[in-house]
Order: sequence, then C-alpha cells, then structure tokens
Amino acid sequence: MSADRRKPVLVIGLGRFGSAVAHSLMRMGHEVLGVDANPRLVEMMAAELTQTVEADTTDIDALRALGAGEFTSSVVGIGTDIEASVLTVLGLSDLKVPSIWAKATNDNHGRILQRTGAHHIVFPEARMGERVAHLLNGRLIDFIKFDDRFAIAKLAAPGPIVGVTLALSDVRRKYGITVIGIKRLDEDFVYATPDTWVLPDDIMIVSGTIEQIERFAAIRA
Ligand code: ADP
Repeated sequence: MSADRRKPVLVIGLGRFGSAVAHSLMRMGHEVLGVDANPRLVEMMAAELTQTVEADTTDIDALRALGAGEFTSSVVGIGTDIEASVLTVLGLSDLKVPSIWAKATNDNHGRILQRTGAHHIVFPEARMGERVAHLLNGRLIDFIKFDDRFAIAKLAAPGPIVGVTLALSDVRRKYGITVIGIKRLDEDFVYATPDTWVLPDDIMIVSGTIEQIERFAAIRA
C-alpha cells in the first residue's frame, strides 16, 4: 500500500536513513510523526517534522501511546540494533498497521523482518554499495535496478554502434538489450526507433539485465 498524499506517516528511528525519509515525506506534503529513543535527536528534529516524540518503540504500550495503530503507513529506520528493529516491527504488526516499511542491514535481518510482519524491506547500504561499484567501474553513468537482475541504465554510446542506425547495429539481438531513448548534446531525450542514428557523444538509456548492460557498455570497436 502506498502512502497517500498528505496522510500522516509514522517514522521510527531518526538516524541517517529515517531522517532522510522523514524530510522527503515532509517535502511531499505528508504529516510526519518522528519517533526516536534518543532525546537529543528528537529535539533536533522537532522544528523540521510535524511532531516528534521520544519513546522506546520496542515496548508495545509505548507504540499504543503514540497512536501507532491509527497510522496507515510506517517506516522503521532502526538498523544497528537488530533486536530493537525486530521488536518495533512486531509491535506495529500486532497493532495491525497496514503498511510497514523497514530497513534491514543484511539478508538475515531482512528475512527476520519479513517473518515479523514488515510489508516492504529495504537494504539501503547493500543497494548503495552495489550501485557505487557499478558507477565506479566507469561504464555506466547511472542505473536503476528493479528486481534481482533487471535494470535501466544511462551510458555513453559504445564505439561500435556509433554512426549507424539501431536497426543496423542490431543491438537487441546481439546484446539482448533494448534502447529506450537517446540524448544528444543540447537536445531533449528522444525515444529510440529502429531508424534512430547513434552519433558520437550520444547518451543512451537502455534496459536489460545488469549483465547484458555491462557487456554492452564494454564493447569496443
Ligand atoms: P542509521 O544508520 O540510518 O543512522 P541507526 O540504526 O544507526 O540507523 O539509527 C537508528 C535510530 O534508531 C537511532 O537514532 C536510534 O536512537 C533509534 N533507535 C534505536 N533503538 C530504538 C528504540 N528501541 N526505540 C526508538 N528508537 C530507537
């Protein structure tokens, strides 16, 4: 279930991840109740969120007192203290919060959160680490991975396909990727067709598996 516009969201754990989520939700027009066990953090965030409360959310009575059961969406940003993260998700699940998002620090943590009742689990450190490795590798300018393998990426047009149309270079059959669009210097993105010419310095948006995209990006004349 998505967080509807302006519906209040409960964000528990106002560390780096939780506070980034809370700030973005505020910018999008949601009311945000931010909760943390650390009074210093609660005070620091007080002016930035709709409301902030100091509480230990491993205690279901504390969650009840916050009115957690009235929220339709919640985010648990506790990561380092796995026990606190799991007990908080369990409490929200017992209070039947319909949408619980939780941050996991590793695969096992993620599996426990799933069993405990989290509906959406995110792995910010692992995902960002993988992303940095692909970008640092230098061939991709940007990419979004959708499930375990499928991705959309932005990259400079590889030499061998420059100077011909997409139909002629036959990229889909040869490399398994689909070219979605092309960005030419000082021009808007255009959707790719078989007749699209690829010019030097063109930036391409392609889809495929990460392996196919990496292989495509690495082709040389
Ligand atoms: P990050 O890496 O995103 O900063 P952390 O796991 O280090 O994540 O921090 C999460 C936040 O969760 C901390 O501010 C911490 O005070 C808070 N927190 C930890 N345990 C509890 C708890 N039992 N109840 C409420 N907040 C908690």
